Amino acid sequence: MFKALLIVDVTLDFCEDGKLPVEGGNTVASRIQHHLVVHGYEYKTIAVSQCWHPDDINFEHFSKTPDYVNTWPMHGIENTRGALVHPVIDQELTVYHLHQTEYFKKGQTSSAYSAFEGFSDSMNILPDDLNGEGDVILNLEGNGIGLNDWFQFHQIQSVDVVGIATEFCLRASVLDSIRLGYKTTVFPYMCAGINLESSTIAWTEMMNAGANINNDIST
Ligand SMILES: [Zn+2]
Repeated sequence: MFKALLIVDVTLDFCEDGKLPVEGGNTVASRIQHHLVVHGYEYKTIAVSQCWHPDDINFEHFSKTPDYVNTWPMHGIENTRGALVHPVIDQELTVYHLHQTEYFKKGQTSSAYSAFEGFSDSMNILPDDLNGEGDVILNLEGNGIGLNDWFQFHQIQSVDVVGIATEFCLRASVLDSIRLGYKTTVFPYMCAGINLESSTIAWTEMMNAGANINNDIST
């Protein structure tokens, strides 16, 4: 059974000193790096998602007076430092796991909380390589591949999910992963939430949907 690691939105804007910081973001990045050292080679592929939004305050995801539910301060702006994956993780992936790693950018045209709404911008794989022509969803440039297609191509059956923020992009990605039929395991030790109350609700929802919660802090 092939297994994937999905690292959701551990980007600089969601870590301390970022534009939309989540407390514990830097710690989560270090813990994920350690997980990669110990377990990285167990994964057939490592998918990394990142917000990649337009630099436009009128974009549906943003507001000058955000409600922190549907609208947010500007963050994850395309081609800015804040949209980059935390360097502690990125360096580990680049040096040791480049052949396994694929980056998925999301939120160019809609809020896109789930990593499954993201598209790879790499040309590592061409649509013709996939089984069944015509069922591949391409991004606007016509050269990307959706995360589910990527997992299908790699015959992934099981997905380990980590990342930020528990209540939003992590939760949405986990629920999509389950809905798409993957055996889905989440590691709270490698996740950071906005606050305890809303995180607790999200964990309950993920568990009820069928997520396995792995509370082993040594993993
Ligand atoms: Zn975003």
